Amino acid sequence: MEKRELVIIGAGPAGLSSAIYGRRAGLDVLLLENGTPGGQINVTNEIENWPGVIHSSGLELGKNFRSHAEHFKPEFRDCTVKKIEIKNGSKIVITDKGEVEAEAIILATGASFRKLGCPGEAEKTGAGVSYCAVCDGAFFQDETIAVIGGGNVAVEEAGYLTRFATKVYVIHRRDEFRADKLAIDQAMANPKIQPVWNSVVQSIEGDGFVEKLVLKNVRTEEIIDLPVAGVFVFVGTEPNISYLGENSSLIKQTRDGWIITNDKMETSVEGIFAAGDIRDKFLRQVVTATGDGAIASVAAYSYITEQLHLNSVLIDPEHVFALITSSIDQNQVKLQVDTEKYAKDSGVKIAFVDGYRNKRIVEKLGLKSLPALVELRKGELIRNIEPKEVAAVKFFVE
Ligand code: NAP
Repeated sequence: MEKRELVIIGAGPAGLSSAIYGRRAGLDVLLLENGTPGGQINVTNEIENWPGVIHSSGLELGKNFRSHAEHFKPEFRDCTVKKIEIKNGSKIVITDKGEVEAEAIILATGASFRKLGCPGEAEKTGAGVSYCAVCDGAFFQDETIAVIGGGNVAVEEAGYLTRFATKVYVIHRRDEFRADKLAIDQAMANPKIQPVWNSVVQSIEGDGFVEKLVLKNVRTEEIIDLPVAGVFVFVGTEPNISYLGENSSLIKQTRDGWIITNDKMETSVEGIFAAGDIRDKFLRQVVTATGDGAIASVAAYSYITEQLHLNSVLIDPEHVFALITSSIDQNQVKLQVDTEKYAKDSGVKIAFVDGYRNKRIVEKLGLKSLPALVELRKGELIRNIEPKEVAAVKFFVE
């Protein structure tokens, strides 16, 4: 099977930033992308909050990210990831073009637009229903259209759509927008935008193309027909995690499927990291996705080098004594120093591991507390004690 050091899934801002940091750290990086690379940035009309660039289109910034990543020569591969499996501790990425064993994996597949799920939505996608103003807005020159949602995307894209449409209804299920004040103020000052409060879409109808929305007022229960030529659905996003399986038990997620990580971007599975919009996080923006990507790669690099080190000192040798201590506990640091001196004087071989920085190995060996003096044979724990001083170490190894 093909073996790689770092496999990154997804080539949006998070994945590309991971690839840059991974390659600069000297890792062998395989970046898996599916179809059109770049993710949501490609369908973002204007980006004004990427520091150092006052204004850019999403497409342009995305292209720059990609050529920057290409400069460091990761391998790009166009394929669909079907599944991730852990077999005997190895991490396997299963794609439609074969299987790859990875020392570390970064999940950077981002998020997709949430669907309304009402009758007519799926059938009329591409026939008047859209999730991308910059892609489809120009089709609605001098038409009346609707935007669904009350967040930043709905409110900002409604403004963009007024470049083409004569009227844009913004249909929201509550009576106030969720978007930032600035975005709301701009939208409300635009004479072409008309909010429709407390309303949900019951169905999207038309003979072929969209002709009307059937709306229900959630307060009065009143049902009305709203004639429109198109509808843009901006009701938030959901994580792209289909390859992790339904209700995936492999990697810990929130109820809505967002991947839970710590601040090193580590997921609940050792050696699997997540970066960008796929994560459970406070702010999903290009700037936070690229930051996540950088952290994930640096953490993946230290994971890979730590694994190599731990394998060579603990797991691969036929027989080993190892003292595992916590580098933040003064007594344990002293025990380590005393034991190093004893090992040097006596010629007994003892490996030293910082259990504070290598928590996973402590868990893996089933050690409840530190310090721990262990005897391993081919990576298997034979016996262990909790030595208080070097005398106990001597007694154990002699
Ligand atoms: P969002 O902030 O989660 O807003 C989703 C909107 O859709 C909400 O108004 C929500 O209504 C509504 N909604 C959700 N499910 C619905 C349903 N089934 N039917 C009808 N309405 C539904 O999502 P977003 O606008 O896509 O923005 C995503 C993130 O990117 C946000 O954190 C946003 O602040 C950020 N963003 C920032 C900027 C910027 O800083 N310039 C620009 C774009 C995006 P409720 O309000 O009732 O929940």
